[in-house]
Order: sequence, then structure tokens, then C-alpha cells
Amino acid sequence: MSEVLGAGQVGVFHYTLTDDDGNVIDSSSGGAPMAYLHGHNNIVPGLESQMEGKAAGDKFDAEVAPADAYGELSGPGPTPVPKSEFPSDVNLQVGMAFHAQGNDGNPMVLFITDIQGDQVFVDMNHPLAGKTLHFAVEVVEVRPATDDEKTHGHAHGPGGHHH
Ligand code: ZN
Repeated sequence: MSEVLGAGQVGVFHYTLTDDDGNVIDSSSGGAPMAYLHGHNNIVPGLESQMEGKAAGDKFDAEVAPADAYGELSGPGPTPVPKSEFPSDVNLQVGMAFHAQGNDGNPMVLFITDIQGDQVFVDMNHPLAGKTLHFAVEVVEVRPATDDEKTHGHAHGPGGHHH
């Protein structure tokens, strides 16, 4: 009997992620497959739920709505911030994430969406927010998590965390 994915299992898989228009956003093809610990939010919830019960060798397509991935678009949209407010030793690039403090005092993550001259545009939405994600998945391996992995809440080894 082969292992199937569920809580406490590590899944190792190759994936290609495309948007609604078929543009490839990300892919593990040509590199190492990704390893994750099931039940610990290592991957977006809408993909994790569709991994449940899958075994090594399974191939499937998973469509994940924004609410089950990086959320719906919210907030005011990209907002300009002077470059001088960022650390001077950081090479600012579109797509970078920064920790900041929101107006309510709670920590929040801001993403750089554009850089124009001395203005850096930041947005609270993840770059993939509001997008329906299309994953083509091939499960490579399913194995029980080690005690260390369960304690840490993520997979170790190739495709997982190294530390
Ligand atoms: Zn660890």
C-alpha cells in the first residue's frame, strides 16, 4: 500500500503555475521539486486541499480561486512612497516584500509594484492577489514527516527547508 497525502505527510511535487491566460507564473520544471508538510499552510490552502489523498505518480490540474490562494484585491492600490524612506543598503526591486507598520499599528507586508524615479509604489496586495491560479501538479513522493519536520512545521531536505 502506498502512502497518500494527508496531515503529517510530506509531499514532494513538480508544478507549473499559470494564470487565466495560460502565462507561466512559476514552475519547478528543470529544477528540484518542491517539498511541503501537509496541514501546515506551507502551500496555498486551495492547492493543499486538492493534494489530499494523492499518491506518488499522480498527475492532476488544480484550479484555485483567489480566496483560497493569495486573497482578493483589497485596499487603495499601489501608493507612492519616497525612496528615502527605504533602507539605503537595499537594492529595491519590483516584487520585493517589506515589513511595515500599518495605520492601526499592526505589522503588515507591503510589496513593491513599481519604481519611478524617487518614488517607490507599494501595495498591501500580494502580487498574485485577485488571480485565479492554475497548477499542473505531478506528485513525485509521499512520505511520513519526521519528528523534526512536525516540530518545525515544514519539510526538510531537497525542495524543503535547509538549516
Ligand atoms: Zn526546520
